[in-house]
Amino acid sequence: MDLTFSVEDEQFRNEVRGFLAEKLTPQMREAAKKTTTVFADKDLAMRWQQILLKKGWAVPSWPVEHGGTGWSPTQKYIFNEECAKAGAPGLIPLGLRMLAPVLFRYGTDEQKSHYLPRMLSGEHYWCQGYSEPGSGSDLSSLKTAAVKEGDDYIVNGTKIWTTHAQFADHIFCLVRTDTTGRPQAGITFLLIPMSTPGIKVEPIITIAGDHEVNQVFFDDVRVPQSYRVGPENEGWTVAKYLLEFERGGGGVTPRLKVGLGEMKTIAEKETNGGRRLADDPGFRKKISELEIRTRALEFAELSNLARMSRGESPGPESSLAKNTSVEIEQDLVTLKLEAIQHYGLPHANLISLNGHNEPWVGPDYAETVTARYMNSRAASVFGGSREVQKNIIAKAVLGL
Ligand SMILES: Cc1cc2nc3c(=O)[nH]c(=O)nc-3n(C[C@H](O)[C@H](O)[C@H](O)COP(=O)(O)OP(=O)(O)OC[C@H]3O[C@@H](n4cnc5c(N)ncnc54)[C@H](O)[C@@H]3O)c2cc1C
Repeated sequence: MDLTFSVEDEQFRNEVRGFLAEKLTPQMREAAKKTTTVFADKDLAMRWQQILLKKGWAVPSWPVEHGGTGWSPTQKYIFNEECAKAGAPGLIPLGLRMLAPVLFRYGTDEQKSHYLPRMLSGEHYWCQGYSEPGSGSDLSSLKTAAVKEGDDYIVNGTKIWTTHAQFADHIFCLVRTDTTGRPQAGITFLLIPMSTPGIKVEPIITIAGDHEVNQVFFDDVRVPQSYRVGPENEGWTVAKYLLEFERGGGGVTPRLKVGLGEMKTIAEKETNGGRRLADDPGFRKKISELEIRTRALEFAELSNLARMSRGESPGPESSLAKNTSVEIEQDLVTLKLEAIQHYGLPHANLISLNGHNEPWVGPDYAETVTARYMNSRAASVFGGSREVQKNIIAKAVLGL
C-alpha cells in the first residue's frame, strides 16, 4: 500500500489545518480533552457538528446528494487525522454514522427526506434500542413486543444500556413481531419518537461515575407502521447491517496515535527508581509494541475506508477492527495508569471530574487517566462483547 501523499493531498491537509485553527476554539479543545466518556459531551458535539455542517464537512461518508463531501479515502483519512491531532470533539455516531447508512440502504424515500436532514441539522438526536435485560449477546432472543392494531403497532417491553437516551428525541428499536419461527425471523426495526406517550427513561450510573446509559420502558406505546424500516419480520438483516457500521465504520487510529503521543509525554516526565520511564528499556518496549499494533490497525482501517468509498459496507471484518482497536485502547490507558502511579488514585480524578469543583492537584497529563481507564472497560462490551466478535470472526471471516 502506497502511503505517500500527493501535492493535492498535502494542499487539502493545509486547508483542513487552516479550518481547524480558525474554528476550533481553545475552550472547545479543552472540553474535548477532558472527555472521559464514550461519546463527547452532547452540547459540545452538537456545537462542533454545526460548525462542520456550515463548511459542508459534517458527514464525509454520506452520498454527495445528501450532504457528503465526495472525498477520496485519502482525504477522509487526512481529515480524521488532523481533527484528532487538533483535539476536535468526536461527533455522536448514533444517527450520523449508524442509522444513516441503514436509511440509505433500507429506508423509503419519505424516510430519507424526513430523517436525514433533521439528523444533520441536529433537530433529531437518536439513541439505539437493541439490548434488553437478558438479551445482549443473544440479541435475537429479544422480547419487546410490537402487536399490530389498525395502522399502528402497540409496543411493550424494555431496552437497557441505552446510551444518551436521556438526551435523545428518537430511538431506533428492534421489536418482536412474530414468536412462531426462528427468533431472528420475527424481528422488526422501528423508528420511535421518544415523546410518544408510554415511554419512560431511567438512568444507570456507571463505575466511572458517569450518566451515559439508561433503561427505557415502553408501556402501550403506539407507533405508526410507516415508522418501520424494511419489511416486517426482516429487521434482523437491517440490525446486522447497522452493527457493521457501529463496529467498524469509523477510523480510530488517528485518536490512538494522539494517545500514544500523550503516553510518550508521560514517560518523559514520570520516573521509576530515579530513572525517566522514557529511558527504561522495559517501558520503551511496551510503548513500541503498542505503536506497532496501532500501525497494523491503521493499514486495516485504510483498506476498510477504501472499501466503504466504493459503496461497500464494512462487512464482518468490522468485528476484527473492533476487537483490535479496543484491545489497543485498553492496553494504552492501562499503561498510562501504570505510569502516573499515585496520581491514578480513583478518588483524586473523580473529585476533579464529577462536578465537585475541587482543583486538580496533579500534572495535566494525569487528570483524566483513571476516569478513562474505568470508562474504557465498557469498550469490550458495548457494540457486542469481545467473545461475540470472536465468534463472528470465526464463522463469517474465517469460515470455521
Ligand atoms: C457502556 C455501554 C453502552 C451501551 N450502549 C448500548 C446502546 O446504546 N444500545 C444498546 O442496544 N445496547 C447498548 N449496550 C449494550 C451492549 O451491546 C451489551 O451489553 C452487549 O451486547 C453484551 O450483552 P450483555 O450485557 O447482555 O451481556 P451478556 O450477553 O450476558 O454477556 C455476558 C458475558 O458472556 C459472554 N458471552 C455471551 N455469549 C457468549 C458466547 N456465545 N460465547 C462466548 N462468550 C459469550 C460475553 O462475552 C460476556 O463476557 C451498551 C453497553 C455498555 C457497557
